[in-house]
Amino acid sequence: MSRQLRVAIVGAGPAGIYAADILTKSDADVTVDLIERDPTPFGLIRYGVAPDHPRIKEIIKALKRVMSNDAIRFFGNVAYGDDLKLEQLRTFYDAVVFATGARRDRDLDIPGIDLHGSYGAADFVYWYDGHPDVSREWDFQPHAESVAVLGVGNVGLDIARILAKTADELLVTEIPDNVHEGLRKNAAKDVHVFARRGPAQVKFTPMELRELSHSPNIDVIVHPEGFEFDEGSMDAIRASKSQKLVVDVLTKYLATEPSGADHRIHIHFCQNPVEILGEDGKVVGLRTEVTELDGTGNVRGTGEFQDWPVQAVYRAIGYYSDQLSGLPFDTHAGVVPNDGGHVLEIDGSPLPGAYVTGWIKRGPIGLIGHTKSDANQTVTMLLEDFEAGRLEAPEQPDREAFDRHLDSLGLHYTTWEGWEKLDEHELGLGESHEHQRERVKVVPREDMVRIARG
Ligand code: NAP
Repeated sequence: MSRQLRVAIVGAGPAGIYAADILTKSDADVTVDLIERDPTPFGLIRYGVAPDHPRIKEIIKALKRVMSNDAIRFFGNVAYGDDLKLEQLRTFYDAVVFATGARRDRDLDIPGIDLHGSYGAADFVYWYDGHPDVSREWDFQPHAESVAVLGVGNVGLDIARILAKTADELLVTEIPDNVHEGLRKNAAKDVHVFARRGPAQVKFTPMELRELSHSPNIDVIVHPEGFEFDEGSMDAIRASKSQKLVVDVLTKYLATEPSGADHRIHIHFCQNPVEILGEDGKVVGLRTEVTELDGTGNVRGTGEFQDWPVQAVYRAIGYYSDQLSGLPFDTHAGVVPNDGGHVLEIDGSPLPGAYVTGWIKRGPIGLIGHTKSDANQTVTMLLEDFEAGRLEAPEQPDREAFDRHLDSLGLHYTTWEGWEKLDEHELGLGESHEHQRERVKVVPREDMVRIARG
């Protein structure tokens, strides 16, 4: 193909940036525009990774190197669906890759889920990570000394750790001032994490589980129920080195005497949450059904129920993607139907020029690095379609045509240079802070846009 390939990627998180990287490293003459709803790039690295995980945030350095390529541009504060639709994008680009991830909580359909004091993990994460679109205040209840976290994935661990740490422990991180102030009102002393299956079925990763005990203010207390491993559990431990390590760490916690720390994280196995108990509209407890391992890696209910006096419940049972304008959606799996790259219509035929990568493609599982192989698969398909002449050429292929279109819509979009200004501003706020912090995030969207647009 002699013409230049023009690609729009919707979503500038790791999935979108990896796809841009792979495209621009290919043999094709290609330019890429990343279109992002947030005024900033990096998606869940900025607004999903917990603030006390600076190691994961280091990935940003590699993503910045990708973005320094002149063939890649960034347009932030532009919402696909509201500001732009697929038909419009197709007039400027040969192909559109959707890398919009998963931003909200999967529903949990149990009685009491709407009580005051019952929260979704994604909402709490957005709050402590300073996302511009959520309230600045978190509704910590002064009496909520015992809280429950449902789900034993890494998000559950993040939530439990942030709730159990003191606000001042988190002051070394990049949390905004309103979050530090908010966390001071958190009364939680006992954080109870509930797994509906056994220790060999948890979704934690070993390093994240080990680090739970690194705070001197927290005792990790693993409760013994569920440690009688059945054949399904033994299979899971034999099949995965990581799962074995996780079980080893849990077993070590089980054998450790609490040190008498002020805060405790309890991990309970074989407890399936069935109801959130309320009084006067507020959470006063959690009811679980005790389960037993059934030999296959699953569990069955025993008919025995337990009530736990907790004053708040956080569900961390997985994320769910937003449906995207103009694209089909599989509501059960929470993904855009696809064949490993192309978006597929309900009848199974490909939607021309539309591709997916990352969590919107395969569901909200896997670590950030996994999105690289995903992007590779999608980009390979896209390039094959281009080479084979299967992509319709856009009506307005010149690069500036898209900028002119955004201007004509009156959108206050941010650019990569704008992000660099905001980045510098946030680092400056950290440096001049009374506690000398690495960064302090700016939260209100209008402030971010104003600083980025200089
Ligand atoms: P996840 O790993 O899929 O864990 C979800 C948990 O919720 C599982 O324990 C699951 O139990 C449980 N669950 C689901 N439905 C439930 C129900 N109805 N009742 C009770 N429990 C239920 O999801 P995640 O924690 O949201 O993490 C998403 C991805 O991001 C993962 O790949 C994770 O590793 C990654 N992540 C990584 C980090 C990090 O620090 N490295 C931090 C955050 C997230 P079952 O297994 O029984 O279904």
